[in-house]
Formats: sequence, structure tokens, C-alpha cells
Amino acid sequence: MANKQVAVFLGDDASPEVMRPTLDLLRAMDLGIDFVEPVVGQAAKQATGTLFPDAAKAQIDAADATFFGSTSGDSTPVLFYLRWGKQTYANLRPCVYTPGFNSPLAQPAGIDFAIVRENLEDLYLGLEGDTEDLAGLNLYSRHARANLGDLGPGKYAIKAITEKGSERVIRYAFELARQRDKQRKVTVTCKYNMLAVADGLFLEIGKAVASEYSDIEFEHFIIDDFLCRMIANPHALDVVVMPNLYGDIMSDGAAGLIGGLGLAPSGCYGEDYAYFESAHGTAPDIAGQNVINPTATLLSATMLLDYVDRGQAATRLRHAVTTVYKDKSNLTTDQGGSAGTSDFFLALNNALETG
Ligand code: ATP
Repeated sequence: MANKQVAVFLGDDASPEVMRPTLDLLRAMDLGIDFVEPVVGQAAKQATGTLFPDAAKAQIDAADATFFGSTSGDSTPVLFYLRWGKQTYANLRPCVYTPGFNSPLAQPAGIDFAIVRENLEDLYLGLEGDTEDLAGLNLYSRHARANLGDLGPGKYAIKAITEKGSERVIRYAFELARQRDKQRKVTVTCKYNMLAVADGLFLEIGKAVASEYSDIEFEHFIIDDFLCRMIANPHALDVVVMPNLYGDIMSDGAAGLIGGLGLAPSGCYGEDYAYFESAHGTAPDIAGQNVINPTATLLSATMLLDYVDRGQAATRLRHAVTTVYKDKSNLTTDQGGSAGTSDFFLALNNALETG
């Protein structure tokens, strides 16, 4: 079997504290994967004059996938390239409870659902500006009963929901429901009452795609109602698909149900590329303290391994994480433990060795 190629970026703030040891662990597992670390950010700028040189872009293109540490600063152009450049339109954020996770719920056992977040459009197109720039368009708000230009100085952000963008991510959700083979259900959620045109389109496309999947149950809820249901009865969910902004928010909420952001992995998939990173950000407030929980990063690594056809290794690594949680003596403070990040990795390596 030919070696796979994976590009790795360690990220900013606390991110390298979990990315570096995860990368060391993956290399030590001897998986037939070549990991390359393209030079970007300030180091690249000093050497080449640009934060994201063509050579780094070429390394991403040559790789089968990218393993990406959360970024807040100079490597942000890489993230934009991984999203819009590689058209990774479906952001999959699994929410799976494992015994030992510090869930606030009385009965978290059995929570196992997946949020699919549209990853490229909605309010994340960066189309923002001064409302007065739009004054000439005479945009009339039937809710405010006024022209936008008459509302006074302010800013706007454009939300765009396209037919193509919605259809492909909703279809992805239905295909995922078939693969998971659990409840075989897809839930579409967005604000289709207030945003009857834009989110209304997302729902209509949801209904149309659903009609092609008679083996998959289909339901839809307005996003605020959905949030209440997600908290009250997360066990009822299987695959949930929603536009970008709602997905960003709901997936952090879903992480909260099982024990927090330190546990939430994420993978972003396109037609022929994918990148993997924890759902959480760079956690700047805990950088340099050896307390960041590596679980989200490790579980993202298992999604990467599945993607590059290293499914057995993914299962092994998932099992080792489960073992560390079952044992409980090497959990980080966010999970109610007193271990450091490095203690967690020692326990994990031990679990991998003892199998
Ligand atoms: P972004 O908008 O980029 O997602 P954010 O501003 O929401 O980032 P995060 O970096 O996700 O912020 O952190 C939110 C809070 O959760 C912080 O208090 C951070 O310390 C904590 N946190 C995030 N990830 C972890 C982790 N892996 N282990 C422990 N705490 C974490």
C-alpha cells in the first residue's frame, strides 16, 4: 500500500501543546503516512516575504488531507485556503459521549449524533461593510418599515444561501445517515420562519433531497426549537444539518452536553479533499500551562485516519482514548481531573502499548 501524505499545521496559542504530541504519537504508530509540515506564518514571511507561500500551498495540494491546529493569527490564510480553496463544504462535528467525560447531564450515556455544518457560505462570506454604502440600492425592510439607508449609520453583513451549497451539504448528511446506520434520521434546522427566503430555501432543498431517501427518516425544526430539543433529548438525534453560523454555535452547545470543548473533534470534507481540526479555538487563556485537553485533537486525528484508509489505526486510537477516560486517573482539569496535558499523553501511550 502506497504511503499517504498529510500536511500538518501546529496552529497558534495553546494548539501546538496538543498538536505536537499527537503528531509524535501518529508518527510512532508507523502507519504508512508521510507527515509534512509546510512553513507558514512569520517564519515563512521572513524567508519568502509572504505568510502563506506557494510552496506551502503546493504541499497542501500534494497531500491527501491536512491536519490543522486551531489558528488565530498568521496562519489564518491557510485556513481560508483549506475551506474555500479546497471547497471543503461539509463540516462534520460528531457529538459522542464516552464514559468518563465530564458531562453535566444526569444520563449522558448513549448520546451519539453528528452535526453537519455547511462550511462555506451563509454569513461567513466576509461580505460586510457600512450600511450607507447600500443606501443607493433603496433596500426596503418590511419588518422595520423603512429603507436601510434611513436607519442611520451602521454596518451590514450579507447572508447568502445558495442552491448548490445547500444541496451538496444536505445530500452529504443523508449519505452520512446511511453510513452510520444507527437511527437513520436526518434533521434539518435553520430559522425558516423569520428568514423565510434564505433559510426557507435551505429547508425546501432539505425536503427535496429527503424525497430521494425514503429509507431515512426526515424531520425539521426551527433553530431555537431545535436547541431546546437538543438539550432536552439529545439521544433522539442522529444526523443534523444546518447553515454555517447555526452549525458553529450549535456544535459548541453540543460539546457542552458531553463535557466541553476539549472533547469535540471536527472534519471538513469536500469532493476530493478534507482537513481535520478540533472544534475549539486556540484557547489563548490557558496557553503554556500544560492543561489543555488533547481529546478533541486526538479524536480529530482518528477522523483523519479513517479518511486516509487507516481505519484500524483509528479504532485503536479511539479505544486508547476510551481507556484513559475509563481509568480516570489521568484526566485534565476541564474533565474534573488534576493531570496535565503531558500526563494524559503518557497514559494514552501506555493504553496504546497495552492495547
Ligand atoms: P474560536 O472562535 O476560534 O472557536 P473561541 O474564542 O470560541 O475560539 P476557544 O479557544 O474555543 O475560544 O476557547 C473557549 C474556552 O474553552 C476557553 O476558556 C478555553 O480555555 C476553553 N478550551 C478550549 N479548548 C479547550 C481544551 N482543549 N481544553 C481545555 N479547555 C479548552
